[in-house]
Amino acid sequence: MSSLSTKTRLRGVVFDMDGTLTVPVIDFAAMYKAVLGDDEYKRIRAENPSGIDILHHIETWSPDKQRRAYQVIADYEKQGLDRLQIMPGAAELCGFLDAKKIRRGLITRNVKEAVDLFHQRFGIMFSPALSREFRPYKPDPAPLLHICTTWEVQPNEVMMVGDSLKDDVVCGKRAGALTCLLDEKGRYTSHDFARLDAKPDFNVSSLNELFSLLESNFDLRP
Ligand SMILES: [Mg+2]
Repeated sequence: MSSLSTKTRLRGVVFDMDGTLTVPVIDFAAMYKAVLGDDEYKRIRAENPSGIDILHHIETWSPDKQRRAYQVIADYEKQGLDRLQIMPGAAELCGFLDAKKIRRGLITRNVKEAVDLFHQRFGIMFSPALSREFRPYKPDPAPLLHICTTWEVQPNEVMMVGDSLKDDVVCGKRAGALTCLLDEKGRYTSHDFARLDAKPDFNVSSLNELFSLLESNFDLRP
């Protein structure tokens, strides 16, 4: 029992939604091309090897151009919603956290409508669940810090779990939280971590892997 006392107390886990709690179904490359046009897409992709921040690019556009871009994004997101699937292990992991009385939150750059649909379709609620309407969004630490304040816990007692190094891990680190990168296909390398100065504390290839990781690394007494 004495070893338990040396482990960090974990009070909450905050999840990204798309690609973390749900299986990725949005063809992001096609969406970016549709928003930016082929040439602009190629140029921006070359300048941003770690990924395109489409919302950021749109923000400087004229209102008209912006409106059209948001419509294209909304169409792609709607197609994604129609095919929405829960990530293997997500429901079990949430049950496990509930049993340990560890809070569950959600932060996404997707819209509130998508979060509502996720909640309805899979019957698993996250609270707070912050969507794109909460500004500033990830990778800004504001949404994560907002959740910590709501829960009345310290950021270092919370783990941010997500599949995006530049959004989820950077958000978590800026907030001072623990971070876990879900990297199903092993697409990230130590070079990426160094370039973004965002080395996750933990790295898993599936949500199922997170169970044993939590049990062996943290004090999970309710
Ligand atoms: Mg994601």
